Amino acid sequence: MLPRRIDPRKLTAQGATLSGCIPTAQLQRLMAAVLDADAGVEVTLDFGRDAQGNAVVEGEFTLDADLRCQRCLGVVRQRLSSGCRLGIVWDDQQARQLPRDLEPWVVPEQDADLFELAEDEVLLALPIVPRHDADACRATGRYSTGGFDDTGEADEGNPFRILEQLKKND
Ligand SMILES: [Zn+2]
Repeated sequence: MLPRRIDPRKLTAQGATLSGCIPTAQLQRLMAAVLDADAGVEVTLDFGRDAQGNAVVEGEFTLDADLRCQRCLGVVRQRLSSGCRLGIVWDDQQARQLPRDLEPWVVPEQDADLFELAEDEVLLALPIVPRHDADACRATGRYSTGGFDDTGEADEGNPFRILEQLKKND
């Protein structure tokens, strides 16, 4: 298991690679956004410097989670995975000086909160409208009229209308 507190500049100086798990039970914002999830976020972090000497970390974050399909309202299991390339900086001023290919990771103290970073990254990987693949969704093809096509675009984000239609058709 990875520690919550890390010293990213020291890891950069060492050219370190960290990999391991972060317990999802500790990530409350994330767990509030999903129905359920595996016990750990798998994390790999590569620390180093780019050609300009900026302190850089490349990260990969992966978690399998249960989400609510917005088409049939069933549970859909999805792999959330996110990759990032961050420039480690002390403050906003330094952040503005980073090249465009680096997203700033502002770490104003020696230590950084790795759990918070992982939580933010996995939240970014959440689909805006979770749903099953067309052939796995029990709502697929049940509605030929009423603006509900195979892609579900028309009724996205309106679970109540979908419920109404389910009742009507059952
Ligand atoms: Zn579905």
